Amino acid sequence: MSCHDIGRGMNEVVRMTISLLDKGEIEMEPAKKIIATCRAAVNWCDGNEEEASLYISNCRCGKCMKIIPKGEKLLSLYSFDDIIGLQYRDYRTEHIVSDKVCEQCFDELVTKYSDDVTSAKEATDKRLEGMNSKEYISEGAYQNDNNGCRWVRGTDWFD
Ligand SMILES: [Zn+2]
Repeated sequence: MSCHDIGRGMNEVVRMTISLLDKGEIEMEPAKKIIATCRAAVNWCDGNEEEASLYISNCRCGKCMKIIPKGEKLLSLYSFDDIIGLQYRDYRTEHIVSDKVCEQCFDELVTKYSDDVTSAKEATDKRLEGMNSKEYISEGAYQNDNNGCRWVRGTDWFD
């Protein structure tokens, strides 16, 4: 059984990082580096990288970081890794900081990583028809809980 608490701890840092990004206090690239580090840091325990970036994964593309409006596609790479051919280690090469990406980034990854782009796109469309909508639709807002728990209070004391 894996540890969910280290993911929650790192997700708290991700939440602050995004808050600073949204206020213009830090730039996109340093923000992505911090988020990527939070994901890697869960390996100091038996954590799950995706839990470290849950704060953003229901509304932001994990590659280009665009905020995706509610109801628009936000595709889970994990659900399509067998079709795309993208391995988890490629997240580092591609600077992907959460499992879910926008349609445009998804298409770019399919084009870059799949052996047969046409077949991969057909297989993707077919799988999308049978999927639970939560796996590929943006909620348009950040998570209001930390993987089922309340956020730590007082992390914004210096605002
Ligand atoms: Zn994107």
